[in-house]
Formats: sequence, C-alpha cells, structure tokens
Amino acid sequence: MVQTAQDDTLHRRGLMFILSSPSGAGKTTIARMLLAADMELAVSVSATTRPMRSGEVDGKDYHFVTQAEFDRMVEAGEFYEWAHVFGHSYGTPKGAIRAGLKAGQDFLFDIDWQGTQQLYQKAERDVVRVFILPPSLAELSNRLIGRGTDSAEVIAARMARAQAEISHWDGYDYVVINDDVEVCFAKVHEILNAERMRRTRQTGLIDFVRELTRG
Ligand code: ADP
Ligand code: 5GP
Repeated sequence: MVQTAQDDTLHRRGLMFILSSPSGAGKTTIARMLLAADMELAVSVSATTRPMRSGEVDGKDYHFVTQAEFDRMVEAGEFYEWAHVFGHSYGTPKGAIRAGLKAGQDFLFDIDWQGTQQLYQKAERDVVRVFILPPSLAELSNRLIGRGTDSAEVIAARMARAQAEISHWDGYDYVVINDDVEVCFAKVHEILNAERMRRTRQTGLIDFVRELTRG
C-alpha cells in the first residue's frame, strides 16, 4: 500500500474528489496518475443505458441497465446526478458511494462543471472540487492535436467550447495549471492528502483526543 498522509489508525470519512478541466487540459492524465499512485482512491462506477462495448465489464466499467431500470432509479432518487449524453442515460448511483465514504474510501470523479454543481448540491461536505487549466490556449490546441484521438472538426469544436468551460473556474475549491505534468500531479495529490486531514473528516479524532487528554 502506498504511503499517504493518512496512514494512521484513526478512522476518517472518505471524500468525493472531483477533477474537471476544459477538454485536452490533462484531466484524464492526472486522474490516471492519481489512481496509479494512491490505493485509497477508487473510481465511482456509473450506471448507463448504452450497450456494452467489447472489452467492457458490467459492474467495473459501468453498471449496464435497461432504460426502465434507469427510470426507476431516477424516480427512487438513487442517483447523485444523471444526464443524457449522446442519446443514452448516465448516472452516479448513491448506494456504493455512501457505503464507501462511511468506510473511509475516497472516490475520484472525472466530470464537467454541470456534474460538479449537481454533486456539490447533493453532498457539499464530502466534495472537493479541483479545476485544471492549460498554460495557454495554444498549448491546449497542441495537446488536442498531439493526443491524436480527434478529427480536425472535433478539435475545432473542443477549442470553441474551451473558453466557456474555462469560465467556470470560480465554481471550484482549487485551481491548478497543468504546465509540467509531474508538478501538476504532485500539487493535485497534495490537495487530496490535505483534504483527508480536515478535522471534520477525521471521525476517529473524538475518541483519540478523549483518550489523549484523560488524566
Ligand atoms: P483531458 O482528459 O482533459 O481531455 P488528456 O489527459 O487526455 O486531457 O490530455 C490531453 C493530451 O495532452 C494527452 O495527449 C496528454 O498526454 C497530454 N498532456 C497532458 N498533460 C500534459 C502536460 N502537462 N504537458 C504536455 N502534454 C500533456
Ligand atoms: P462513454 O459512453 O463514452 O463511456 O461516455 C460518454 C460520456 O458520458 C462521457 O462524456 C462521460 O463523461 C459521460 N458520463 C459517464 N458517466 C457519467 C455519469 O455518471 N454522469 C454524467 N453526467 N455523465 C457521465
């Protein structure tokens, strides 16, 4: 297990760690680095109505559900947030996250500003919001081209949306500029470790301090 700032015996409540950025600024890269480096962090598994792609595993990549089941979950209030994306429904189920948070598990969310607002409204005290900015628009464009996953049209559309996405920077607790990727990753990891030590998350503190100050 990787050493973290929270490697002690005190119980703490987990947190919901949100990473957002304009497309291409490096959110996926930083998310992968965090997950590889930090064993206390897990990804939340969403529910979706879209068909399973080859190689995907039900319960790992997504919980694949029918539209009727998805609608029932919406009605029953079982999602923190949900949305229609590219003709299918996607949502973040509350059950596993609630149980995990109580047990001290942290969850990583790689979501946009709208999803962030919804999660914050539902679970303000458990949420930590981090926004990643590119060092410049020229560099953002270079990264989208360099990634090699999108056509010129898609890259142009992502660049056109970038300014609007950047305008949501003030809806976040932390803002980190992703210039050097290792430096950015280290800063984001520091934020995660510091937030773990927030007094209100350290549910084991009351008993510890009571014991510490007895007699
Ligand atoms: P996002 O998930 O925000 O759309 P990605 O993580 O896919 O962005 O990053 C976009 C591209 O930029 C990828 O090819 C990635 O390897 C590269 N990249 C990410 N961070 C940096 C950085 N600090 N310097 C240079 N290239 C980077
Ligand atoms: P894909 O079908 O390619 O896996 O995902 C399509 C889109 O759905 C992505 O932009 C992804 O971020 C979004 N998405 C995945 N899960 C959720 C979720 O739980 N809630 C919301 N709002 N969007 C999601």
